[in-house]
Amino acid sequence: MPTSAAKIPNEYLDILRTNGGRVTPIVSTLLLCLHASKQIYSPQQIKDELSEMLSCDVGFPTIYRAIDRLMQCKLIHRMHRDDGQTMFFVCRNPGNEHHHHFICTSCHKVFEIDMCLAHKYESHVSQRLEATITNHIIQLEGVCKECQ
Ligand SMILES: [Zn+2]
Ligand SMILES: [Zn+2]
Ligand SMILES: [Zn+2]
Repeated sequence: MPTSAAKIPNEYLDILRTNGGRVTPIVSTLLLCLHASKQIYSPQQIKDELSEMLSCDVGFPTIYRAIDRLMQCKLIHRMHRDDGQTMFFVCRNPGNEHHHHFICTSCHKVFEIDMCLAHKYESHVSQRLEATITNHIIQLEGVCKECQ
């Protein structure tokens, strides 16, 4: 499969370019691979797909560097499965402000949740602890409409 960056929506490429320059073939192929699927991927699945798409054996250090770059740009996110495995998925609204994702445990599809309801919770906690909250991670899992 050709690895032309043209198939990646421009908004992803724009965000990548404004956040640190060159878009390497490995970064664009990883993004292309995750974007083509609506599902979560394990590092091993990413390695297998990329090695096939690029017709060479892509090593884990290279893959994790690309994953880090895409995570820094908030184009992909990770979730932790109960068995300890970390999974990765692409955000389909990368230009949107802070939001969350729902992951179906049956079909492994990712759904965008275009809002965050944690601000009230944050202000409650920061008042109670007199602390400044700088981040939160919410992992929403369940069974999607189609899988029920
Ligand atoms: Zn998203
Ligand atoms: Zn489902
Ligand atoms: Zn939030």
